Amino acid sequence: MNRLENSLKWMRWIAFAVPFVMLFGFQGKERVIHSKPLGTIKTIVIDAGHGGKDPGCHGSSAHEKNVCLAMALELGRKIKEGYPEIKVVFTRDKDVFVELDDRAKIANRANADLFICIHANSASATAYGTETYVLGLHKTDAQAKIADRENSTIYLEADKGEKYKDFDMSPDAIIARQLQLSVFLDQSILFADKLQDEFKTIGRYNRGVKQAGFLVLYKTTMPSVLIETGFLTNRDEEKFLADSEGQSKMAGAMFTAFEKYKAELEGVDYKTRGAQEIADNSVVEKKDFKDQVVFRVQIETSETKIAANSSRFKKHEVFEYQQDKLYKYTVGEFVDDFNAANTYKNELRQKEFPNAFVVAFQNGERISLEKAIKLAEK
Ligand SMILES: [Zn+2]
Repeated sequence: MNRLENSLKWMRWIAFAVPFVMLFGFQGKERVIHSKPLGTIKTIVIDAGHGGKDPGCHGSSAHEKNVCLAMALELGRKIKEGYPEIKVVFTRDKDVFVELDDRAKIANRANADLFICIHANSASATAYGTETYVLGLHKTDAQAKIADRENSTIYLEADKGEKYKDFDMSPDAIIARQLQLSVFLDQSILFADKLQDEFKTIGRYNRGVKQAGFLVLYKTTMPSVLIETGFLTNRDEEKFLADSEGQSKMAGAMFTAFEKYKAELEGVDYKTRGAQEIADNSVVEKKDFKDQVVFRVQIETSETKIAANSSRFKKHEVFEYQQDKLYKYTVGEFVDDFNAANTYKNELRQKEFPNAFVVAFQNGERISLEKAIKLAEK
């Protein structure tokens, strides 16, 4: 073997090995991010908060662990009934204690496409409303307190939280983790937005989509949300959440949000109850497609700006926009033509972007796919 052949052999070996080193070396054992397409939802893990010796928070009589379990089971039942092909996994289906770490492990091992944690909130008697969390840095002390309360479950675990000792939940670590999971973060926010919309539809007060450092979200490697369904410390909300009718309404709203999320990810129209626009603060595009609907295929999301010539875009020319304080990148541009965008998305998924999905814009604003498809049909 001459020297050139020898160095070629090494280069080939490095080209082969580097992606593995990056994947496993940087992310550690339990954190390998699976790369199957997110387009079709095959498995959902539903996580009823607390349980067993950990009752969670409480109102005058209701305990968080019980109301969460009731809503989780009802949501699972609805999904199984509506989509028999989807596998529904519960982290617990009865009143037992499950360690936080194990909840995330159950989701990762199941290779879940979506992880839904259901909780109830606690504060003063005057606080009320629903909020949905995705992993991130808390913006207020109140959000930090909620994360601390939900994370404190670890002290009830067998080793009193010893195994989380080396677990870095510093702001820097959370940001680094968010970046690793950035492709899921956008989808987590998409689902969280839809959940909050549906809670509003059934008359709950919308406290919004928020971010905080929840251990259970940190460890999962798929789109994940944590729902605080209401305050047990508020007399009216306790009554609503402890009642089977209220629980069924909440599970129904979660189910509708899931249906809309699924439809949007899979790029199909969701035909019901009229279009709802995504409430957002998207920043405008330069080109002028006055009143027309423009479909694009989103391939990347990041907390920081990515250079247009970055290797992450695999030589594609990208369109950048900002939403929810994130930079988002799309390829392709299809005016009033959803089908063409959808076909392009499928191509991209098979090649270099398994997580690609279709997004829509009108007059520089991102709008929901269901609304866009209806507008484009006209
Ligand atoms: Zn909780």
